[in-house]
Amino acid sequence: MKNHSGTTIIRNGQLIDGNGGAPVPSATVICKDGFITYAGPTASAPTAAELSNGQSKGSADVRIIDLQGGTILPGLVEAHFHSTYFNVIALEDLDTKYPVEYVTLLAAANARLALECGYTAARSGGSLFNIDVWLKKAIESDITAGPRMATSGREICGVGGLMDWNPDFRKIGMEGLVLLINGPVEARAAVRKLVKDGIEWVKTYPTGDAAAPDTNDHHTLCMTFEEMHAVVETAHNHGLKVTGHCRATEGIKNALKAGYDAIEHGTFMDDECMDLLLQRDVPCVPALYFEYASIQRGPEFGMSQQVIDGHQETLDGGAESARRILKAGGCLGMGGDYGFAWNPHGDYARELSFFVNYVGFTPLEVLTCATKNGAKILGRSQELGTVEVGKLADLLLIPGDPLADIRILEDRSQFIAVIQGGVIKAGKLAAPAA
Ligand SMILES: [Zn+2]
Repeated sequence: MKNHSGTTIIRNGQLIDGNGGAPVPSATVICKDGFITYAGPTASAPTAAELSNGQSKGSADVRIIDLQGGTILPGLVEAHFHSTYFNVIALEDLDTKYPVEYVTLLAAANARLALECGYTAARSGGSLFNIDVWLKKAIESDITAGPRMATSGREICGVGGLMDWNPDFRKIGMEGLVLLINGPVEARAAVRKLVKDGIEWVKTYPTGDAAAPDTNDHHTLCMTFEEMHAVVETAHNHGLKVTGHCRATEGIKNALKAGYDAIEHGTFMDDECMDLLLQRDVPCVPALYFEYASIQRGPEFGMSQQVIDGHQETLDGGAESARRILKAGGCLGMGGDYGFAWNPHGDYARELSFFVNYVGFTPLEVLTCATKNGAKILGRSQELGTVEVGKLADLLLIPGDPLADIRILEDRSQFIAVIQGGVIKAGKLAAPAA
């Protein structure tokens, strides 16, 4: 991804740098050639004249952005992004509805939308075929616009588990979406396939979900400890990380004991789960707005009361676990399962509002989870996630104060600029698309 060349001064706004401290009220951020060279009070910032001193072209190559009292934030990080999910209502919408060619185009559109929503980076939570790996390549090559990505490709689940829904008589398996395994030998083989695909995060299904109440509900296990351990051993040998869809308490424990690098959802955490999580500072991505949206809008889409009740139990458990992890100083990421009809792409920032207005986090806590922690989960803390000297100029410039009203992050039409490496990619200051 190409950086901007030249100097940009962003001024006349408050700075929320992503570290969780109080905002700097009258701040300036300066970027040069795609990297942040100053971030702090305007009073101590170098001036445009000082910056252009010694440059033959004078001050003409210094771009100035006046925020008119708005806010400078780090670009947001969506920590559980399904680029290939698109308006999903029924199970087949996830795997067999469209051919891979069309799903690839949908994924590119979803990635562009995420960037327009202020998300300058995203970690995949699994994708159809190996689309996210190639989507990342296209984004990194500036062929299509989107968040800087960490990829997962196909997910791993035990035979008969949550993600194994196509009946055997159809003889279509789960090709494209999931690698189904029976035992540690097949678990290793699946990871080795993903190694060849070029993914970074192995996504697994240690447990079921409220969406499948009959045989794989949220208290059911979908992989054995031996399978999970084999996944971790093989993945770590090849330098990959492992995460998993973890709702049931026993599944969370298995994942943490097997050496997982992150936990998705972490719904029903007991004291032992908390100890195991905090011992290794394993990040957790609760993805709770999905549950809320399922409860609110499920009936419109024919969801049964049993499924909705399961989502309510999941939401209550997940919110309680998220509050415990925050209180204990653990690492939480924001993101979650957007791409369903009741939870479509583009609604990502509803996760942030939901954590403030329903779960009880402060806006500043939520923003730290959505920026600094997101970059940590991506394994790119050195480059992304906070507005600090030396980091990439991945920034979100908005009018107003998200600490007073977090919901302003939901309205991308008001954004001043979404910036990656100093390049304005979206928002009012972006060049209109040809
Ligand atoms: Zn997911």
